[in-house]
Amino acid sequence: MTETTTERRDRIVEIYRDDTAHVVAYAGVAYHLTPCCDASAKGSLGGIVCRSCYQEVCPMYGMGWALTDDKDWARFRAYMLAEYPASAQSLDERRALAL
Ligand SMILES: [Zn+2]
Repeated sequence: MTETTTERRDRIVEIYRDDTAHVVAYAGVAYHLTPCCDASAKGSLGGIVCRSCYQEVCPMYGMGWALTDDKDWARFRAYMLAEYPASAQSLDERRALAL
């Protein structure tokens, strides 16, 4: 059985996880999950809030990086390597899985 591109893009792929961060990719976009609920964040009138508990979170949680855009991916990769003990190889492998 072969997977179609559509099926692959419809599932959540874990990009990075440690005690302080959880980054996943869904529908071709990588984003952080909130530290409070492990949920995605969304914009609200006051700023960025956790989609699960509506607590205000750091604007970073509202950001997303397009996996299909090489420049966006390069920015995301550089950011992850600078901020977290992530390995470039593992990030690239995860990207390939999520595309
Ligand atoms: Zn929350």
